[in-house]
Amino acid sequence: MGVREIRTDEITRTVKQLCIEANTVLGNDVIKALEKGYEMEESPVGKDILSQLLENAKVAKEEGLPLCQDTGLAVVFVEMGQNVHVVGGDLNEAIHEGVRQGYKEGYLRASSLDPLTRKNFGDNTPAIIHVEITSGDKIKLALAPKGFGSENMSRVVLFPPAVGIEGVKNFIVQRVEEAGPNPCPPLVVGVGIGGTLEKAAFVAKKSLLRPVGQSHPNPDIAKLEEEILEEINKLGIGPQGLGGRVTALAVHIETYPTHIGSLPVAVNIQCHCDRHKEAVL
Ligand code: SF4
Repeated sequence: MGVREIRTDEITRTVKQLCIEANTVLGNDVIKALEKGYEMEESPVGKDILSQLLENAKVAKEEGLPLCQDTGLAVVFVEMGQNVHVVGGDLNEAIHEGVRQGYKEGYLRASSLDPLTRKNFGDNTPAIIHVEITSGDKIKLALAPKGFGSENMSRVVLFPPAVGIEGVKNFIVQRVEEAGPNPCPPLVVGVGIGGTLEKAAFVAKKSLLRPVGQSHPNPDIAKLEEEILEEINKLGIGPQGLGGRVTALAVHIETYPTHIGSLPVAVNIQCHCDRHKEAVL
């Protein structure tokens, strides 16, 4: 297979578009999950909130307005075919520029700042960029704006292996319980099991790109997802934490091989404003 050239201006244009779309158009997968939640919810207040969330998504799409005032940090997942040659500039800078333009032209809030001085950079850059090299001659870009009401409720723990699957389940459910109303439920709970400290967190976050409620292809993991979702929805936190059955819309688990001496578990909590959009160049 020959080398295929992809220009940085095409990458910038695509990232810009993805920023605007992700922040204003909620995916059909999330809408369907919220509708299903509406059917399941028994609490009148919970039902009312779910219908308001659906109405919010409709208005945002029609008016081109952000789904939420927290338009997040722009997390960009890049799957880069090894036969791609990026021309016209630097890949990272092309992505940052796309975020810069997208957040400016879409009138989206800029939240990125220096962690110590707390000085805002004003254009929501730098993006958080994760690059994975794959086979082929295409670039897949997935953009997931991440609000920090939910990000702040996320955790990684490196357990001893003796904790076992039961311990892992308890930890995930307990994390959601402790988070309570803070991450704006109903949630999508991304879980990464295995790897190292950073790999567990990475696979947990990447699991959030999966269409909401699409089970893991491995039936044992899919069963675990279902069991944990059931436990979470017994907590009674409900939509926006005001009580009800629908605390989470889905649990997505991804695993990665780990060390004999450890059982890393990352829980990356996503709020109801589960924004993610993809494009392939
Ligand atoms: S957690 Fe989500 S819904 Fe809540 S304020 Fe942040 S982005 Fe918005």
